Amino acid sequence: MYEKINEQFASDNYSQICPEVLEKIIELNHDNAQAYGNDYYTKYAADKLRELFEIDCEIFFVFNGTAANSLSLAALCNSYHSIICTDVAHIETDECGAPEFFSNGSKLLIASTEDGKLRPEDIVHLATKRDDIHYPKPKVISITQSTELGTVYSIEEVKAIKKVADEHNLLIQMDGARFANAVASLNCTPAEITWKAGVDVLCFSGTKNGMAMGEVVIFFNRKLAEDFDYRCKQAGQLASKMKFISAQWIALLENDLWKKNAKHANEMAKYFEKNISSIKNIKIKFPVQSNGVFIEAPEEILNELKKNDWIFYSFIGAGGARFVFSWNSTKERIDKLVSQIKDISSSF
Ligand SMILES: *Cc1c(COP(=O)(O)O)cnc(C)c1O
Repeated sequence: MYEKINEQFASDNYSQICPEVLEKIIELNHDNAQAYGNDYYTKYAADKLRELFEIDCEIFFVFNGTAANSLSLAALCNSYHSIICTDVAHIETDECGAPEFFSNGSKLLIASTEDGKLRPEDIVHLATKRDDIHYPKPKVISITQSTELGTVYSIEEVKAIKKVADEHNLLIQMDGARFANAVASLNCTPAEITWKAGVDVLCFSGTKNGMAMGEVVIFFNRKLAEDFDYRCKQAGQLASKMKFISAQWIALLENDLWKKNAKHANEMAKYFEKNISSIKNIKIKFPVQSNGVFIEAPEEILNELKKNDWIFYSFIGAGGARFVFSWNSTKERIDKLVSQIKDISSSF
């Protein structure tokens, strides 16, 4: 009746719930705590996040990343505003227009990117291209950390973005679907790469880090969070049993499990990169700085892998493939993938 799927590298959200998270749900499933986030697990999880980020910030738990991004952007924009992001940004390519929908029409202004990062000069160009009333007024810069192409903004790069943001009166929202991987990669504190570098709002994903589901929207700039609870409720993102999203966060925050999970995923990406880089016909497309490896390979190789039941994304154009590693990726399974790539490649 049930088909068992082997470990895959299509995305980190293919992975299982990590055991500590599942155990925490079971451990806290012992009473009848209040609904809609009025429970003590939610208060405790929020306090743990404030402690982690070393600041008294506003915290909201939601189900998924599309909601976290689009509702936080809607909170920063009026309908006539615009949001500067890259052409590979998840908000541009993978959210079905949700940011525009929830903001009642704020337009995304797109900069093309080579490595997934938004550059200060592109922001300035988009922010100053026009200043007349016929153009949607630039209001927010959205950056993804780590990026959709697996690269990571350094603290200096975020600070350089903050500099142009201040010069042009723009706010900064960070899509942190893989924020944990970026922090593990930079080996800095979460505060250093967010509010201390100028980020106003962060969407921090638990799902891709080992939870069943759950993201948190963190407003470092507390004024921007006004009425955000109503926005979440109206969008269907106020979980009545929020306590079980919060319980999962408690597990990730205890003993820095979020960081341990991210570090493992990053190390597995590096391991894969190291083992395939010498294979003929395979090219690594972007620097491997988090938990994703993008390769370029002859389509015959990719098709053959798919025939052998490997699941991965090839949305980045012909001959491109993405492999993403997770808290539970194993070297054994990566070895198997590498040896198949080698075998197929040598038959060409
Ligand atoms: C996964 C992901 C999200 C969130 O996606 P949902 O499917 O809505 O949870 C947001 N941004 C990026 C860059 C992602 O990779």
